[in-house]
Amino acid sequence: MAIGEKYEAVIGLEIHAQLATNSKLFCGDAVSFGAAPNTHISPITMGHPGTLPKTNAKAIEYAIRIGLACGSKIAKDNYFARKNYFYPDLPKGYQVSQHTTPICEGGTISIPLPTGEKNIQLNRIHLEEDAGKSIHDISATDTLIDLNRAGTPLIEMVTEPCIHSAEEAFLFVTEVRKLVRWIGICDGNMEEGSLRCDANISIRLKGVNTLGTRVEVKNLNSIRNIKKAIEFEIDRLIQITETGGTIIQQTRSFDANNDTTFSIRDKEDANDYRYFPDPDLAPFHLTEAFIQSIQNKLPTLPATLKKQWKTQYDLSDYDIDQLVEDKEEADFYMDWAATCKHYKAIANWMIGPIRAAVNEGSISFQQLSSLIPYLVELVELVETNQLSFSVASTRVFKEMMANPGSPKDYATTNNLLQTGSTDEIEKWIEEVLANHPEKVAEYKKGKKGLLGLFVGEVKKISKGKADPKMTTILLEQKLT
Ligand code: ADP
Ligand code: MG
Repeated sequence: MAIGEKYEAVIGLEIHAQLATNSKLFCGDAVSFGAAPNTHISPITMGHPGTLPKTNAKAIEYAIRIGLACGSKIAKDNYFARKNYFYPDLPKGYQVSQHTTPICEGGTISIPLPTGEKNIQLNRIHLEEDAGKSIHDISATDTLIDLNRAGTPLIEMVTEPCIHSAEEAFLFVTEVRKLVRWIGICDGNMEEGSLRCDANISIRLKGVNTLGTRVEVKNLNSIRNIKKAIEFEIDRLIQITETGGTIIQQTRSFDANNDTTFSIRDKEDANDYRYFPDPDLAPFHLTEAFIQSIQNKLPTLPATLKKQWKTQYDLSDYDIDQLVEDKEEADFYMDWAATCKHYKAIANWMIGPIRAAVNEGSISFQQLSSLIPYLVELVELVETNQLSFSVASTRVFKEMMANPGSPKDYATTNNLLQTGSTDEIEKWIEEVLANHPEKVAEYKKGKKGLLGLFVGEVKKISKGKADPKMTTILLEQKLT
């Protein structure tokens, strides 16, 4: 048995997501990534004596929104607690967090494994504030501090130790990022630190039910790094065990330069944070009506949408997975499909030319919305063989984006409509066959695959106007 098969990896993840509110969790300071250092740090953020924080209702709403999306139980009675510790990026000397009453308890997020869907169990999702940032790479001698981030609202999502491979962890974080974007509570931008992950990892012999000693790799800031760090740790822990060593509970950091991890400190089991209810913040009670009002505003979730689309549009799983990735894209598809029944054709347009145009910044989905009547006309022209897809997607669609108007009018004025006229097509065919006598001879000797080349040549010299079906029929007749 290979060593890797003797052991089972056990992983629990803690994900921090910055909530996309305008202001901080307990004061009106702006949340603004990339602002000049220390420009959004009012006395409340700095914890000056006598300042009085107030809770941002939007942050509570966002935390409930993700809890409802995961099927968590929402706690009605909540309070904030102070978690006391000293660190240069923590201006108040404590972090306001939730201690015994996480706002969301339990819940699941489903990940797509090759063997089917797997539900990852959540332990809790709680609200807390972010710390500032220490900057080590600007000065050679000093560490600089930017406290703009201090007080930014975060949710921390904690899973049960039920993830068993780096791949599962990778898929889980991918789903979390999709979900927070879909419900509009976080931009999911890992490079900017809006979404960060700590991975807790242990190993045990297969069949054993107790948990092994864990290590925690802190502050992983890309999905790739999460996967690499976990892979490295599983190998390292197995190596230690196999060589008779003892695993010690440690906090570690990931080095992205060589995909390894290194120890930052040995972790004491119970940190003495001296949690106590924050005396400046009123406990808050959530009414059933308030929670229900958030539930009512929750958009249809991707899993539900995928099921609906399958019956409503009869698309392949591949197309559905592609289109139910991003909410704006999925919404746009549904708007378009509301007035055009060529569902598969629209899917191809979405995954092809539309996505390309949006990605390169030529147009936004908002601008595209006003073009829907023209897009419906455009698809109709292609699906009824009046316009070739290549002319439609390159020339006509480009023109529509620059000068919104009827694609049929444009195609007619510019002589782009396809023709099924046998006279015209035959002229193009004559020309193509005259240009390629050797190929014609080869075809006649049995190399039937050359037909596609002739069709392509006719398409080229007709500038996409020759109807390809008619061209094929006429070519076959000519060549026998
Ligand atoms: P802490 O407060 O020290 O961060 P928690 O008990 O809240 O510890 O657990 C944090 C995360 O670590 C959770 O996702 C949990 O599932 C995971 N975890 C706890 N023990 C283990 C273990 N032995 N192996 C793997 N993951 C673990
Ligand atoms: Mg932890």
